[in-house]
Amino acid sequence: MVGGGQLARMTHEAGIPLGIRFKLLSDTRQDSAAQVVSDVVVGDYRDLETLRAFAQGCDVVTFDHEHVPAEHLRALEADGVVIRPGVEALLHAQDKGVMRDRLTSLDVPCPRHRIVADPADVERFAAEGLGGAAGENTGFPVVLKTVRGGYDGKGVWVVRDAEEAAEPFRAGVPVLAEEKVDFARELAANVVRSPHGQAVAYPVVESIQVDGVCDTVIAPAPGLSEELSGQAQEMALKIAAELGVVGHLAVELFETRDGRLLVNELAMRPHNSGHWTQDGAVTSQFANHVRAVLDLPLGDPRPRATWTVMTNVLGGDFPEMYPAYLHCMARDPALKIHMYGKDVKPGRKVGHVNTYGDDLDDVRERGRHAADYLRGTITE
Ligand code: ADP
Repeated sequence: MVGGGQLARMTHEAGIPLGIRFKLLSDTRQDSAAQVVSDVVVGDYRDLETLRAFAQGCDVVTFDHEHVPAEHLRALEADGVVIRPGVEALLHAQDKGVMRDRLTSLDVPCPRHRIVADPADVERFAAEGLGGAAGENTGFPVVLKTVRGGYDGKGVWVVRDAEEAAEPFRAGVPVLAEEKVDFARELAANVVRSPHGQAVAYPVVESIQVDGVCDTVIAPAPGLSEELSGQAQEMALKIAAELGVVGHLAVELFETRDGRLLVNELAMRPHNSGHWTQDGAVTSQFANHVRAVLDLPLGDPRPRATWTVMTNVLGGDFPEMYPAYLHCMARDPALKIHMYGKDVKPGRKVGHVNTYGDDLDDVRERGRHAADYLRGTITE
């Protein structure tokens, strides 16, 4: 796996019971996954020769992020390296402009959008679309995104006028403008697809973001109609099949106030919105990603509890979270703690907790309490 973050760490963990030999290309020895994988190559994923040397002896190469340059992926494929997902699929997770155009051509509903050239063009975009499809927003605010390199809300701006629209253009990366969707909530439809074309769909989840960072994921999304949940799963399966995705695909969605679904983003790797599956599904997203990239039969995606809630643990003022385990474990013996081995910095995602049960309010409270206690924002 290329990339030494927590996704690689947890993918490695899922491969252990299967006896999968896992090799890692990591920026440093201290990265989350590099701490626990024995076969680590330290190197730069932006360097083709490093990638080539790393891929030697690998049956299959997969990724914990989407930042490996497409031209390097193409070169590896030309060398005969098996990359899963392949570059033609990955392009849609790398570039939001490519993704929007392709999904639109597949009739998958997306926010109104187009690439914009400069702040004056953003002003024109804001004014366009009047009389467009029902429910589309026109005028400011407009959402601007750099087409590449964004994560956790970085690379996304909500601008109220042309003057504010100047900032995103400074990076020198093409800028995508989108209508600001008036959403009721954010959902994610997670599916896994194998080279055989077998696919499984997890229950659709609600994902709650705070300051652009995923805070809580509730599985299944409370109160979501069977119709919308079926639509979301079908949309994700269609995207996976049409784009030729292999492995885990997360489709981030907006549920609009008038009951429509619009695709926000795609991720072709294990995803934060699927962490609940480690303790809440028969087969976790990580186990199924491993199976998919190895072209093994996929595992059962069904839930194991009525409700499972994943709550992210962010860093607080205390560098050491271990002392907080005492209280958290004693208070809630069913709590599942997943820490990433990262240095604690304020606001940084350093782990998550999973809670599950029949009473959603209780399941959410237990997750919230543990995450806040680990962070140090509550002391009892
Ligand atoms: P990232 O690359 O950081 O994941 P996203 O495209 O997912 O970027 O955007 C981050 C967040 O910004 C979303 O989760 C959503 O809350 C908000 N957002 C993004 N696009 C829109 C939009 N078109 N309308 C309204 N909110 C949006």
